[in-house]
Amino acid sequence: MAPHLVNYLYIISAALFILSLKWMNSPATSRRGVFVGEAGMLIAVAAAFIKGQPIYNLWWIVAAIAIGTVVGIPIAYIMPMTAVPQRTALSHACGALAAALVGTAEFYQRQPQASTELSGFVIVALIIETLLGFLTFTGSLMAMGKLQEVLPQRPITYRNQNAVNFVLFAIAVGIGIRIIAVPTDTYLFPIFIALALLFGVLLIIPIGGADMPTVIAILNSYAGLSACAMGFVLSNNLLVVAGALDGSSGLILSIIMCKAMNRSFTNVLFGAFGQMQTSTTKTEQRSVRSASPEEAAQVLESATSVIIVPGYGLAVAQAQHKIRELFDSLMRRGVDVKFGIHPVAGRMPGHMNVLLAEADIPYDRLVEMEDINGDFPQCDVALVIGANDVTNPKARTDKGSPIYGMPILDVDKAHTVMVIKRSMNPGFAGIDNDLYYMDKTLMLFGDAKGFVSEIVKELPAAKAAA
Ligand code: NDP
Repeated sequence: MAPHLVNYLYIISAALFILSLKWMNSPATSRRGVFVGEAGMLIAVAAAFIKGQPIYNLWWIVAAIAIGTVVGIPIAYIMPMTAVPQRTALSHACGALAAALVGTAEFYQRQPQASTELSGFVIVALIIETLLGFLTFTGSLMAMGKLQEVLPQRPITYRNQNAVNFVLFAIAVGIGIRIIAVPTDTYLFPIFIALALLFGVLLIIPIGGADMPTVIAILNSYAGLSACAMGFVLSNNLLVVAGALDGSSGLILSIIMCKAMNRSFTNVLFGAFGQMQTSTTKTEQRSVRSASPEEAAQVLESATSVIIVPGYGLAVAQAQHKIRELFDSLMRRGVDVKFGIHPVAGRMPGHMNVLLAEADIPYDRLVEMEDINGDFPQCDVALVIGANDVTNPKARTDKGSPIYGMPILDVDKAHTVMVIKRSMNPGFAGIDNDLYYMDKTLMLFGDAKGFVSEIVKELPAAKAAA
């Protein structure tokens, strides 16, 4: 009975994981997606116990679950929303380390019968598991360090860096092949681990801090593939399925992010993008029109349709609740307010959706870029809050620009544009934004939260003045 029961439970878990991924696709169903994923994992853990494999020391497992719970719950509560990318990197580092350590333990544990137990496909899977696991562990820690700014955000580069990395990786793979051929060569295994750990560090340090969210999605994919390989080593079907889901979803996410930024994988991984921006950044000396909160409130008051375009500055300022107040105030006055959501606005996928959902902005008011772009020409006011690159018309016109080809929100087509930001400083791509110099654009200089709050205060007065 037990083997059948375990297989049924594994199938239920796998189905729940797939549903979880499906539901996490939309802000309206994402909470359900998280709960269903957790339920799938709980069933998987229960099935692993029922499977009745020799459990050498139950208390070690209980202790690990207890420590994980004690550490995990506070992290989830304490970490601010803006730190979610680095928290995700930390989770990947832990998952990858677990897979790599299981692979290492299996390698040494099976040594007495190495000729039968570490042969053929198993040793190939074990080498892939440990290589990906260890390099993802150190790579994810580097990514976390850069995002948390405990490591330099700028790309750390030196001459022939890509060649050095390639040679190092080739040596690690070469040693891995030797271990596959002669699994009893145990002295090679620690060297193999050391090279994988070192490669993880060297792979990530040349990448700029702001590219880390894309890198984290790629590392997520590696961690998933490592877990998938672990499934083959341990003959565990659910691990194979869950690892493959994790690996492929991470890869798809990184492809979506690269497409939305009009960048290639090689450009993200080997382009040292952040260095170019920080070293050449210079804003142009052209004049702009600025306005006060009172003037901005008057413009909004007389509009019939407003599209709010949020960006990274919204996350920095934590202005989502104030924006909710502005939204309510305008809607009460009969203004049609929508939000234009760019796929890579902010610094992680879905960043704007998460922040606006936190402030309970109705989901049907959040409109994706492809669907809202047609509305800008008829829209009275486009209110850009802490967004920059995702509105920059240079992406359409300037072939020399680093963001050329990136799809943008067509904010410049609205009748009036208002931009809340603190200065004329550029955004992530480090380039000036032509939008700010257009005759129809009003710059609202200030912190997003403070400025929106001032506008909300001025709105009743604006009505009286009108
Ligand atoms: P940007 O980084 O282009 O611009 C953000 C703007 O916010 C800045 O110009 C800044 O101007 C302003 N800002 C910062 N703090 C505040 C504040 N407290 N109040 C008001 N304004 C503030 O962000 P976007 O969202 O427009 O674009 C995202 C960029 O990040 C894109 O280039 C994208 O490719 C990249 N990226 C996105 C990822 C994702 O997954 N979302 C992943 C990796 C990269 P100022 O300093 O003058 O206030």
